[in-house]
Amino acid sequence: MSNDILFLAEFAAGKPARSALELATGAAELASQSGGAAVALAYGSGAADGASALGAQGAARAVVLGDADRPAITYAAAAVATVRDADPLAVLAPATPNGRDLAAALVGSLHVPAFGPVRAARVTDGVLETEQATLQGSVITTARPADGAPSPSIALVLANTFTPTEGGTGSAEVVPAPEAADSAFAKAIVAESHETEAKVVNLEEATVIVAGGRGVGGEEGFKPLQDLAGALGGAVGASRAAADAGWIPYQLQIGQTGKVVKPSLYIGVGLSGAIQHRVGMQTAEHVIAINRDPDAPIGEFADLFVVGDLFQIVPALTEEIRRRKGSEGA
Ligand SMILES: Cc1cc2nc3c(=O)[nH]c(=O)nc-3n(C[C@H](O)[C@H](O)[C@H](O)COP(=O)(O)OP(=O)(O)OC[C@H]3O[C@@H](n4cnc5c(N)ncnc54)[C@H](O)[C@@H]3O)c2cc1C
Repeated sequence: MSNDILFLAEFAAGKPARSALELATGAAELASQSGGAAVALAYGSGAADGASALGAQGAARAVVLGDADRPAITYAAAAVATVRDADPLAVLAPATPNGRDLAAALVGSLHVPAFGPVRAARVTDGVLETEQATLQGSVITTARPADGAPSPSIALVLANTFTPTEGGTGSAEVVPAPEAADSAFAKAIVAESHETEAKVVNLEEATVIVAGGRGVGGEEGFKPLQDLAGALGGAVGASRAAADAGWIPYQLQIGQTGKVVKPSLYIGVGLSGAIQHRVGMQTAEHVIAINRDPDAPIGEFADLFVVGDLFQIVPALTEEIRRRKGSEGA
């Protein structure tokens, strides 16, 4: 076994996904603890051209699994061959649909220990040690491979577990993946793809989030929140109650069974701040809550708690922000 830490790095049009930057930073951190190198498993369109830039976050090498626009699972055969060859201490995969597919293929093919979704990872006594939240976030479990377990450990890592470092100047050495045995994984191709009209917002990358809950009362009730998010250049998110009611797509749900976000500003509107919601947004830098109930749990951890009717406060806030922005531009 080597002391290297591998990580999955997804690309689109030559640009790394945010998860790739986060995991490059995380892998470099763990590699400095294990005495190995951080190595990217780069895949997706433009991966061959874009992969060397991961050196800025500390990757020493990038193995290109393939650089076509095709389903992530079709890179599984190359990923398995690369991991088998490298025999690293650990492989980090993002806890995204694509990351989960590839991690499952690795674990299933190599029969190695799996962890996740993890919210912290480190190398202790030469093995990967991870932390995950269980029982609705009320218990944090620390896990490591059993004595004598085969390497590597595969960890699914939650978004925002690592903060990408910026401004590094290193460049990673780019190498092709080893020849993979013919595999069912490589049999799917993309026949055609086109952009949909709906703009998919990546909540995990938003720096400002306005999240609505049951208190907004319906789909229409999200309109003032969208206006506020628009005025702030942010995105709209939701509690599970709002997503379950069908007022907003599930992709925008924040919490234990939704997205884990880390904006600089999170505004929770008409949501109570249940523990299952809180675990998805508790690392926000600043939290503002707008709620008509002065005893709502969110008031206990908000930096600013505004007690009142959201339908009066939110439009007034939006108007004031627009007015100030307008006068700045004048
Ligand atoms: C296994 C499990 C997983 C879960 N995962 C998640 C998850 O990922 N994310 C998540 O969010 N939840 C999750 N939940 C659900 C969670 O427990 C709560 O039920 C949910 O978060 C409550 O949503 P809410 O805050 O929108 O609704 P409520 O708790 O009903 O709160 C609504 C709030 O709106 C306020 N309000 C009402 N009208 C107004 C108004 N006009 N102006 C201002 N304020 C108003 C009320 O005072 C109240 O505080 C999970 C639960 C379980 C059991």
